[in-house]
Amino acid sequence: MVSDILIIGGGAAAMTAALYASRAGYQVTLVEKNAFGGQIADSPKVENFPTIQSISGLELSNRMFEQISDLGTNIEMDEILSLQKKDGIFIIQGQFDSYFAKSVILATGVKHRALGIKGEKEFLGKGVSYCAVCDGAFYTGEKTMVIGDGNSALQYALMLAKTSSRVDVVTLFDRFFGDKVLVEALQAQKNVFVSHNLNSLEFYGEERLKGVLFEDTITKEQKRIETNGCFIAIGQVPDNERFQNLIDLEKGFIVTNDAMETKTPGLFAAGDCRVKKVRQLTTACNDGAIASLAAGTYLSSLKPNTL
Ligand SMILES: Cc1cc2nc3c(=O)[nH]c(=O)nc-3n(C[C@H](O)[C@H](O)[C@H](O)COP(=O)(O)OP(=O)(O)OC[C@H]3O[C@@H](n4cnc5c(N)ncnc54)[C@H](O)[C@@H]3O)c2cc1C
Repeated sequence: MVSDILIIGGGAAAMTAALYASRAGYQVTLVEKNAFGGQIADSPKVENFPTIQSISGLELSNRMFEQISDLGTNIEMDEILSLQKKDGIFIIQGQFDSYFAKSVILATGVKHRALGIKGEKEFLGKGVSYCAVCDGAFYTGEKTMVIGDGNSALQYALMLAKTSSRVDVVTLFDRFFGDKVLVEALQAQKNVFVSHNLNSLEFYGEERLKGVLFEDTITKEQKRIETNGCFIAIGQVPDNERFQNLIDLEKGFIVTNDAMETKTPGLFAAGDCRVKKVRQLTTACNDGAIASLAAGTYLSSLKPNTL
């Protein structure tokens, strides 16, 4: 089967692209490697999506998924490993299957940035996590920690404060870089303790994590903070090198024009995976809609024998 539009990814950008393309009557395949919703599924509370005052990221993702399923989008679970274009057709190689399409939208988003310190891999799933929404409940009544200074870290800490006995929030610099409303909400929590200017050195423990070793960036003194669960929220990194044969990258992000076109005709990119200034849910949806419409224009321009 040759899809009209194949979408790589299952986050907000991908699902919006699928929504537009499926409604326009195209044969659409969407391929996700992990979990539908992408990053927003990790958000405890979304309060900046127009028309919805407050919703969990997971619920929002489920609604998007239901919407595209109902419209007949063909949905596959697979990790796409490579992409080629031959005689006007894209050949998309997954881990489990091969796919073929007349046009492709890359909506691969970003993945969690790791600290890259001793013990991080060893204690992953045994006290170290990148997702408080997924794993926070495992530490109900226990001590937790969040490392990070942006909105994701603040959201994680606020969520954990409801179930943990104590939440330590550790930042590398002397302040938070997230929204004022979240910082103020955090300051109002009685069981949250903030430590600034700490550089993470090592996760330690035995079978499970027992704590984290830090260095004070000003005094250079080392400090241990005990915790049962540590959530790392220090940003994200793109993962697009595997498609480099057909796209240009800037610091790992895909270069597009305003119509979400890459340098290869018929290949588009949408959402957090592309070079852009604002990476948010609404801007991901915006990109998905534009990429989908641009893919439609591309398909209309093809000679009848390729349609
Ligand atoms: C904890 C957290 C809280 C947030 N809260 C908010 C908020 O309140 N409001 C807001 O506006 N924004 C928020 N954001 C940001 C927002 O979630 C993102 O900007 C947006 O969801 C990006 O969507 P996307 O579809 O571009 O990428 P992603 O959500 O990253 O989705 C990309 C998807 O592609 C899949 N994928 C990647 N590579 C492949 C491959 N090779 N093959 C198959 N599948 C692949 C991934 O598994 C993933 O599901 C938050 C982010 C986080 C992490």
